[in-house]
Parts: sequence; structure tokens; C-alpha cells
Amino acid sequence: MTVPEHDVSDAIDTNDHSIARVQSLGSGSSGNAFLIEHGESSFLLDCGVGIRTIIHAMNVRHQTIADLDAVLVTHEHIDHIRTLPQVLGPNIPVIASKGTFDRTRIRDQQWLSITPSAPIQIAGASIWALTVRHDAAEPCGFLIELPGATISVLTDLGSWRDELLEPLLASDLIVLEANHDLEMLRCGPYPAHLKRRVASDVGHLSNEHCGAVLADVAKRGPRTPTVWLAHLSGTNNRPEVAKATVDAALDRIDRDLSITPLPRRTPGPVWTPSENRSGETNRNGPIARPATQLSFDGI
Ligand SMILES: [Zn+2]
Ligand SMILES: [Zn+2]
Repeated sequence: MTVPEHDVSDAIDTNDHSIARVQSLGSGSSGNAFLIEHGESSFLLDCGVGIRTIIHAMNVRHQTIADLDAVLVTHEHIDHIRTLPQVLGPNIPVIASKGTFDRTRIRDQQWLSITPSAPIQIAGASIWALTVRHDAAEPCGFLIELPGATISVLTDLGSWRDELLEPLLASDLIVLEANHDLEMLRCGPYPAHLKRRVASDVGHLSNEHCGAVLADVAKRGPRTPTVWLAHLSGTNNRPEVAKATVDAALDRIDRDLSITPLPRRTPGPVWTPSENRSGETNRNGPIARPATQLSFDGI
């Protein structure tokens, strides 16, 4: 499927490179990518949107693809790596699990192996792999600690693991999958085998499940993270349905978070720490604590 190219909004201050900044460039089965920046450092998390979209997003920031400090890859499904060959210059490291590396054409010399027990420090960022269940070789989410901001990205996960809660509690921006509405999937046009796959433990996270997780985060967390709902299905979900489901889960425990469903095929929104309602950022993220406090499973 051809991914349409879109202009990237530069409505916010594009010249301030001193603060952490995250931009979605597309989220869903048509293509996924996030541009993550702080200071002079920039990272691409997944590489599934059109190359022109990536180039333009970086040009708006007065950067080129050659300026990327690393590309982080969650797993080998095409909506996450479609543009990887075009993005990879000879000197750009790729952070991925061994299983993902084995199923992509990442060159040996560019691959930085990441495991849940061994975070990577690169260009001023601390990057943790978070094990998820999904029908890929060795998929992961990421927790990224930047100066003044901690970001977690969890898409393409069929089920929840309690070990994922701690990274979310440490995050200022949470990007969490809200793939489908259970009833829309059940009654929708997908063939039975595909419905089973999506709803399975290694498929995708439903709105309902996403809402339950975020309610737990809101109940336990001392902070007020911004939340982006990611990887929405174009067939089995709608942005207003996903948001309403999550909002209802938060209402039931009398909590409120800033919830934004990500556009599937267009870039945006942009997040900076100042977007958070409390104005508070997490400067005490997991990397500041002993690693033993994190209970990520090995793979
Ligand atoms: Zn995907
Ligand atoms: Zn996938």
C-alpha cells in the first residue's frame, strides 16, 4: 500500500532545539514513525512512513537524515520498517533486538543490540527495550530518557504485562496502542482468522485494554503524563471511539489525563514537556534508579 506524503506542521517553535520534542509522523498499519529530539540529538523510532515525510519533518527542524543519531526499530513488520533501507546511511546506528535484526537487512556494523536488561546510552539519551507480546520475532517497545523528559512507546502488543507498568509510571509522554474497539472488531468485515489474530495475546491492544492500563497508571502515578493513543485500526476503530473508551475508564476512577488519538496517515501532533498539564516533568526516571528496580523480563 502506498503511504501518502503529507506536509509536517511547523506551527510550534521549530527553532528551539534545547528542549525534548516528540513528533508522530504516522501511526497505524499504513506506517509508523516518531521523530524524537533533544538538544542537537535526534532519533527516529520506527521507519514505516514515506521517506519524503521523514525528510520534510527533519528539514523543518533544519536537519537532514544524515543528522540522525540512531534509528530505533520495534519489530520487523513492514509498517515499522518500510523506509528503513532509504533512511540508513552508512553511519547511522540501528537499535533493535537480535530477533528483529535477524529479520531485517540491517548491516552488522550498524546494529546496536538491545535487550531488556541492557539499556543503551547514546547521544545524551538512555534507551530501554520493553518486552511486548506480538506476532513478530522479538518485538519490543522503548522507554527513552532524555534530559528533562521520559517517553515510553508501546505499540503492537497483544496483551499486557505487569512489568510494563513501571516504565509508564516514569513517563511524561506515554504512547500506547489503542488498536481496536472489541465490538467493532467482532462485528466488522475482517475474516475470522484475522479477527482471532488481532484479538490474540500476540495481536494488538484493544481500546478497552488500553483504557484499563491507563486508569491504572493514572491511579498509581504521581504525575500527569500526556497520552497519545497509537496504531488505531482504520477498520475496527475510530479516534472518537478510542478516546471515549479511555476517557470512560479514567472517569470511573475520577481521574483525568490529556488523551490524543494519533492520526493514522498524517504527521502530528508534537509534544514537548511544556504540553503536560501539570507542567511537571519527570526528572527522576528509571535510569536514575538502580537498574535492579526495573523488572523487565529477559527474552
Ligand atoms: Zn504495526
Ligand atoms: Zn506488528
